[in-house]
Amino acid sequence: MTDNSLIASVFRKEVLALSAYKVADASGLIKLDAMENPYNWTDGLVESWLETLKTCELNRYPDPEAKQLAQTIKDRNKIPPAFDVLLGNGSDELIQILLMALQPNASVLSPQPSFVMYQQISQSLGLNFINVPLLPNTFDLDLPAMLAAISTHQPAIIFLAYPNNPTGNLFNAESIKQIITTAKGLVVIDEAYAPFAGASFMDELIQYENLLAMRTVSKLGLAGLRLGYLVGAPAIIEQLNKIRLPYNINILTQVTAHFALIHHAMFDEQTRKICAERTEVYEQLGNMDGITVYPSAANFILFRTPKDKATEIFAAIKQQGVLIKNLSPQGGLLADCLRVTIGKPEENQLFIGALRKALLPS
Ligand SMILES: *Cc1c(COP(=O)(O)O)cnc(C)c1O
Repeated sequence: MTDNSLIASVFRKEVLALSAYKVADASGLIKLDAMENPYNWTDGLVESWLETLKTCELNRYPDPEAKQLAQTIKDRNKIPPAFDVLLGNGSDELIQILLMALQPNASVLSPQPSFVMYQQISQSLGLNFINVPLLPNTFDLDLPAMLAAISTHQPAIIFLAYPNNPTGNLFNAESIKQIITTAKGLVVIDEAYAPFAGASFMDELIQYENLLAMRTVSKLGLAGLRLGYLVGAPAIIEQLNKIRLPYNINILTQVTAHFALIHHAMFDEQTRKICAERTEVYEQLGNMDGITVYPSAANFILFRTPKDKATEIFAAIKQQGVLIKNLSPQGGLLADCLRVTIGKPEENQLFIGALRKALLPS
C-alpha cells in the first residue's frame, strides 16, 4: 500500500485533483464514439505499404526532425515556405509542448464546450485555464465575452477548434480574426477536422504573426499512427522545438504517414463518402421527433435528446450494440446532448434504428 502522504507530498495539487482521460471499452460494439474513419485500406495498398515497412531500420533511432515527412506535409498542405512545421505524437502532444513552454503563471483561454485536452493539460501543468461559454443554440463564439476575457486575463495562448469538437460547427471567421488581432499572445486554430470542413485558417497565417494552425492525421483515417502538426512562424516553432523530445515521431509513423500522404486518393475518396453520409445522418436525425440536430463541418454530429433522457437513450443504443458518446454528464450547454461519429452507411443505419427504438415510449 502506498502511503497517501507520500503521494500528496510528491505530486502537484493540480495533478491530484485531475481525473485520467477515460476511453470507453468498445469491445463487440459498433464504434461510433471517437471520430475514427471506419474504412480499411484496399488490399493492394496494404501490400505496398508492407513493402515500404521492410525498409525500416528498427535498430536505429528515427530521423529526429522527420525531414522527409515534414516536407511531404508541407507540399500536401501547400504550406508557404516562410513557415515551419512542428510534428507531434498526435496533436495532443503539440498542445502539451505549447503549454509546457509558457511562463509558470500563464493563462490559457478556450471557449466552452471545446476539446477537453486544452483544459486537462493546462491544469496538469498548473496553468490558469479560463473558459468562456459559447452561445447557446448556435454554439458560436460569444465575441464580446471572449474579448473581455482576453482583456482581463491576457492569455498566453488561445485555443480555437475549427470546426469545434464536440459541437461540430465552424465559428464565425470574422470573430476569430478579431480575437487574433486583439490577443497579445498566441492563437492556435486547431483544424483536427480539416478534411471534412472545407474551411481553414492556413492561408491566413501570413496575415498574423501570432497565429498558428494545428492539424492531425487522426480523423482522416490514421488515428493509430499518432501524428499531428503545428504550422507557424519559424521564430515560434524554434522555441517549441526545444521542448519537443528528440525522437517523438517513431520510424513506423514517419514511414507510414509519408506513404499515406502520397497515396492520398484513397483517403480523399473515403472523406467524400463520410461527408455524404454526414448529410444523410443529419437529415434522418432532423426528421426524428424529440431530436434537435446541430449542423456539422466535421465527421461527427451533435444532437440533443428530450430533457433528462440522454443517459437512458445512450444506454439503450449501446444495449443494441452501438457505442456513441454521451456528453450530457458534462452539463452546461451539453446537457441532454449525444454525439455520433459518422461510420459506414450500414453502421449509421444501425445507429439510426437503435436511436428510433430508444425514443419509443417504454
Ligand atoms: C481529436 C482531436 C484532437 C487530437 O488529435 P490527435 O492528433 O489524435 O491527438 C485535437 N483537437 C481536436 C479538436 C480534436 O477533436
